[in-house]
Amino acid sequence: MGLFSSFQREDIYDQLTKKKLDILIIGGGITGAGIALDATTRGMKVGLVEMQDLAAGTSSRSTKLVHGGLRYLQQLDVKIVAVVGKEREIVYENGPHVTTPEWMMLPFYKGGTFGPFTTNIGLRVYDFLAGVKRSERRKMLNIHEALEKEPLLNKDKLKGAGYYVEYRTDDARLTIEVLKKAVEYGAEAINYALVSDFIYDLSGKIAGVIVEDQINGQQHQIFAKKIINATGPWVDELREIDGSKQGKTLHLTKGVHLVFSKEDFPLQQAIYFDHEDGRMIFAIPRDHKTYVGTTDTTYKGDVAHPTLTGEDQNYLLAAINRMFPTLHLTSKHVESSWAGLRPLIAEEGKKPGEISRKDEVFVSDSGLLSMAGGKLTGYRKMAEDIVDQVVRDLQDEEGILYSHSETRHLPISGGEVDGSTGFELFTLEKIRDGVEIGLTKEEASTLIQQYGSNIDIIFQLIQEKKSEALENDVDPIVFAKLVYALDYEMAFTPADFFIRRTGALFFDLDFVKQHRKAVTNYMAKSLQWSKDQTTTYEQELMKAIQETHVN
Ligand SMILES: Cc1cc2nc3c(=O)[nH]c(=O)nc-3n(C[C@H](O)[C@H](O)[C@H](O)COP(=O)(O)OP(=O)(O)OC[C@H]3O[C@@H](n4cnc5c(N)ncnc54)[C@H](O)[C@@H]3O)c2cc1C
Repeated sequence: MGLFSSFQREDIYDQLTKKKLDILIIGGGITGAGIALDATTRGMKVGLVEMQDLAAGTSSRSTKLVHGGLRYLQQLDVKIVAVVGKEREIVYENGPHVTTPEWMMLPFYKGGTFGPFTTNIGLRVYDFLAGVKRSERRKMLNIHEALEKEPLLNKDKLKGAGYYVEYRTDDARLTIEVLKKAVEYGAEAINYALVSDFIYDLSGKIAGVIVEDQINGQQHQIFAKKIINATGPWVDELREIDGSKQGKTLHLTKGVHLVFSKEDFPLQQAIYFDHEDGRMIFAIPRDHKTYVGTTDTTYKGDVAHPTLTGEDQNYLLAAINRMFPTLHLTSKHVESSWAGLRPLIAEEGKKPGEISRKDEVFVSDSGLLSMAGGKLTGYRKMAEDIVDQVVRDLQDEEGILYSHSETRHLPISGGEVDGSTGFELFTLEKIRDGVEIGLTKEEASTLIQQYGSNIDIIFQLIQEKKSEALENDVDPIVFAKLVYALDYEMAFTPADFFIRRTGALFFDLDFVKQHRKAVTNYMAKSLQWSKDQTTTYEQELMKAIQETHVN
């Protein structure tokens, strides 16, 4: 088992720098995490460095769906639907705690983009391409059935709906669970470690990187046989440092999501609907909230901080009020939001929504491998493909043989529950354990959904750290999550905890406001932050809270 705690940063650097790695991955989003897992399980020595927090880029800012991309059928992007569609179930079975089936309704209207015929055919093709299992194949609903499932739908000219399954996920937790598994197999990964330059050998081939620790400013050199640039929206920046930004480049597009309380937007059924301009929008119920997204606009601003603008907000509010006309939602009802950047591969003359989501690998003359494009859902297959390429290269160059990818049937961290069927039984058993230590059934069940087979550690922390939690003025359940985030998931700042370890900034702002002070105080004390660090991290969280609304 490797190290994956914020208290072991020095040891992790020691491991990363003391030997030449087989692969060094730059970027701790889902792409990098997936590659780390695939390569480590084939027996390679793997390192991963992330300049911000894990998943702080696009991988915590998606629509949070493991989906086949039904809308790509409209663009006749059949291949991507076939590949990504099939991956949905693999992602689900390997981590049923972070991925949950969600029946999706696709209403159609007289004169709308879709009719009963096109919807039926489209969903049938989708079922076929994505290899959808029998119990989850599409159904067609008449007007009455559609309205019964979602009474808030616009009834005017409604003709019926398609009904099919996608999967809901927590993108940041999925990324972290994948990386935790890689670390379990021996990968060394660290956040707040920025690659500022490359090191080349005498023949001009890339041999290593210079890393600047973003917490203490120290510099490190890490050497590897192969270096993979998995930096999502930053892929071109790294190619520029390498002097290899030629040919295809990235086209960044921004997508935003709005979050509403269940009281203001009591959606009971996930809906996939088209806006006036023909763009498709998701409205998804989640816990006690409903969220809606997304937009798709060319982006040229600060890559690390895309935010919601008034224009984005108005666009989505108009879509919502058109599809759910009794709601009359305004900006006052927006509880939270997030914005993310799609790292798409530019295509001449195409509008943002028309650019393919396919992934591609660019190899520079120096040997830098850059992976761009793709989807959260397809991460495992993307990783398999690029590691296959590395395996072929290493075999040619050094005659070393590595095995085939093993990730198709490999549970991610927290996923050791015998797949989706086993997870039901596992949940029932563990709820019993939770109740035994004094939790309510609901509390236990929510924690099991979040932590899967790692739940025993959480239960243990709740029991063992109860008095320490109370001494630190933190609720024992929150304290267990916090200690787990620090010790087992490398959280270093309050924003890491409230955004990417718990998702609370998006779906439970009250939780953030309630626990902000106590969590920050405990982190400052245990991680021995300086005064300046404490101020910086406090301000960072406050800024993140502010950015959930149009400023
Ligand atoms: C609005 C929106 C909605 C989406 N919805 C879905 C969806 O529902 N389902 C789906 O399957 N896909 C979806 N996607 C696509 C999916 O989110 C992305 O394809 C995926 O998250 C990209 O992951 P990544 O790891 O390549 O990039 P990122 O997650 O951005 O990771 C790259 C990482 O590299 C780091 N980095 C950059 N430069 C350096 C450096 N110099 N040194 C060290 N680290 C560095 C960054 O900090 C970043 O964390 C959506 C995307 C968007 C924008």
